[in-house]
Order: sequence, then structure tokens, then C-alpha cells
Amino acid sequence: MDDTTAPPDLPELDLDDVVKAFRVDPGDDLDLSDHDTRATVGWDGDKEQGKAAALAANARLEALQELLYAEGKRRVLVVLQAMDTGGKDSTIRHVFDGVNPQGVKVASFKKPTEEELAHDYLWRAHAVVPADGQITVFNRSHYEDVLVVRVHDLVPEERWRKRYGHIRDFERLLADEGTTIVKIFLHISPEEQAERLQERLDNPEKHWKFATGDLAERKRWKDYIAAFEDALSETSTDHAPWYVIPADRKWYRNLVIANILVDVLEGLDMQWPPEEEGLDDVVIPPID
Ligand code: AMP
Ligand code: MG
Repeated sequence: MDDTTAPPDLPELDLDDVVKAFRVDPGDDLDLSDHDTRATVGWDGDKEQGKAAALAANARLEALQELLYAEGKRRVLVVLQAMDTGGKDSTIRHVFDGVNPQGVKVASFKKPTEEELAHDYLWRAHAVVPADGQITVFNRSHYEDVLVVRVHDLVPEERWRKRYGHIRDFERLLADEGTTIVKIFLHISPEEQAERLQERLDNPEKHWKFATGDLAERKRWKDYIAAFEDALSETSTDHAPWYVIPADRKWYRNLVIANILVDVLEGLDMQWPPEEEGLDDVVIPPID
């Protein structure tokens, strides 16, 4: 997107209110039923203004990502988790629209392959964490190993329960070694999921996204909520905080996430690399 400045009459998202409402603080015992999936905390404008403000934040993100890439020193990891149809793919498409693909990677975590299963569960995650100058988005993540794995009893409880500690340590390691981590849970209601699944059924172009298996997962809604509540409570830390983002309204979801990421990148206090001396005197020679 080219529009780098928001029209002057756009309201501003109150990020302090957003953070206060949605960040899971260390030690919190998260209860997702306290979180309204249709909330528009911190926003005074309407939906159209919200979309415009999200575009402006996206343009800002594009510029900051260029600086991150040019500087080549910091690493940023964004973890995205949600129920099925929660909007992970669409969030990535909107929030990172237009950013330089050389500097932003998306790592999708599917059902583990045989080779992945033959290793510890963090192996495949560690292999794709961001390098210097990169932003990596985890579309699902190592958290599946305390979510789907717990809900489906894929390993015994005594094994998955220890993983909260491993995950805290893993993220501590990444942070200590220079990775900035932001973790986002897209919070939708079961009614919104029903609508989105129905849309996928009704629209032939969306059939490819429909998996009847999602209906079996939907039946376990409450088990997933319990697993998310524990996982987020156990692993939200100052250096790797979780945000519970109301995600029934897509425009608000995009607006908030783009602004959180802009704030995180601005907080890195990045600098353009030093230029060569004497650039003012350089003349580009003609070719004869
Ligand atoms: P999708 O995101 O729709 O492509 O689906 C990916 C599927 O892989 C989801 O059903 C996840 O629950 C599943 N998945 C991801 N990670 C794991 C894991 N560690 N163990 C089992 N299933 C997983
Ligand atoms: Mg799916």
C-alpha cells in the first residue's frame, strides 16, 4: 500500500487501552468468558474509518520492516493461534500486505511429519525462528503441542504439562539472544465460527478450505477453550506476552494487530546502517 499517512480526520486507536484490556499479564489466570469477541476497545470511529486506519498502520509497518531489514540486527517473532476459522491466514494477508517478502517469513505448523514426530516438539519450531533482520510469523506454532495434543490426548498429561515450562524456557532463550516475541490469540465466538464454516460451505470457491474434520474439532470447543486458557496463563511473560484479540470483527482485529506490531517495532529504536563516506561527490559514470 502506498498511502503512508492517515487522513487527518481519522481517530487514533488508544493503544494503552488496548494493551490494558487484551494483554495477559504474567500470573493472570485467564478466563476467556470475560473477553468479548466483538469488543472495539480503544476505537471511537466506525468500521470504514477503522479499515482506513488499519491501512495506515499497515503502511507504517511496511516502512518499519524495511528499516528492520536494512539494519539487519533484530529478530521479531509473531505467534498466531486461534480456533479453526479464527482468521489467522486473513490476518497475515491484511496486516503484512505489501511488506517486502524477503524480510517476512510465514511458518505454518501442520500435523507433524514422521520426521518431526521423531524429534522433540520444539525442534521444528526452533528451526524456523527469525534470523537477523527478519520478521517470522508462526501460523500455528509450538503451542499446538499443548492444545490439539492435549485435547486429543496425543501424549499423556504428565508429558504435555511439562511443556509449559519448556516453552517458557525456549522463549526466554530466544528473547535473551535478541528476539522480540509477540503472541496473538484470535478470539472468536462459536456463533461466528458457525457463520464462517457455513460461508465456506455455501461458496464453491471456499470449499477447499472446508474440512469436515473441523466439525469434530468444533464439538470440542470447550476443551479447546480450557487448553487455551491454561496455555496463555502459563506462558505469558514480559518478554513474550500473549494478547487476546477480539476477532469476530475482522476490521478491528486487523486494526489492533497492525498497531501492536507498529508499536513493537518502534520500540526497537532501530537505526539505518551507516552510509559510506563521500556519497555526495559520487558521479554515476556513463557507459559508452
Ligand atoms: P490448518 O491450519 O487448517 O492447515 O490445519 C493444520 C492442522 O494441523 C490443524 O488441525 C492442527 O491442529 C494440526 N496440527 C498442528 N500442529 C500439530 C501438532 N503438533 N500435533 C497434532 N496436530 C497438529
Ligand atoms: Mg483448517
